[in-house]
Amino acid sequence: MSSAAKEGQRLLLPKPEKLRVAVDVDGVLAETMEAWIKTFNKLHGTRFKLKDIDSWASWIKFGISKDEFYRILEGTWENWIEIPPTEPDLAVKVQRAERYGILDIVTGRTQRTVPAVKQWLTNQGIKYNRFVRVPGWRYKIALGYDVYIDDAPELMPMIPPTPGAFGILYQRPWNMHVIDMPRVFKVRTWSQIPSVLKEITHTKKEIAA
Ligand SMILES: [Mg+2]
Repeated sequence: MSSAAKEGQRLLLPKPEKLRVAVDVDGVLAETMEAWIKTFNKLHGTRFKLKDIDSWASWIKFGISKDEFYRILEGTWENWIEIPPTEPDLAVKVQRAERYGILDIVTGRTQRTVPAVKQWLTNQGIKYNRFVRVPGWRYKIALGYDVYIDDAPELMPMIPPTPGAFGILYQRPWNMHVIDMPRVFKVRTWSQIPSVLKEITHTKKEIAA
């Protein structure tokens, strides 16, 4: 098809404008910390629960180094089949959000764990547009997405200074301290996300008008 024909087709059939959405994996889709805490308890003979991970730098609380924290996290992905989703019926809930956004998986996972993450997503039936790996959460904002669905408390303060960016903080025990800030929404479950995306779509249109 010629580019003119393509252009014509696009004019005749305008696609509904959708938000470009970056969806985090660990802590937002995959309950990695559930598997993490299991491994930690096994190694140290402790009985910690997920709710005990109430800060981002939880290695301090658990009396381990940051390196060990991340080493255990890497290890959990080697046994990806044991990682539960963050919520029941997650694939269906994620799909409902697709009505308002093109969902890309944007993760700070290491290269080594990428195949496992992809397998996990397929196994859970979670559909997505593109899989994007970044070296760490700090690099996400530079990708220029409209919306970031994330549980990283440190990512949210980067939203207000970034024109056009919106954040959806998926509330977890380790990010409850995040204060309210402009263009950052807080949700407790994926069921709330479609309506938030709808609101963001309207807000963006108002700004553009
Ligand atoms: Mg995360």
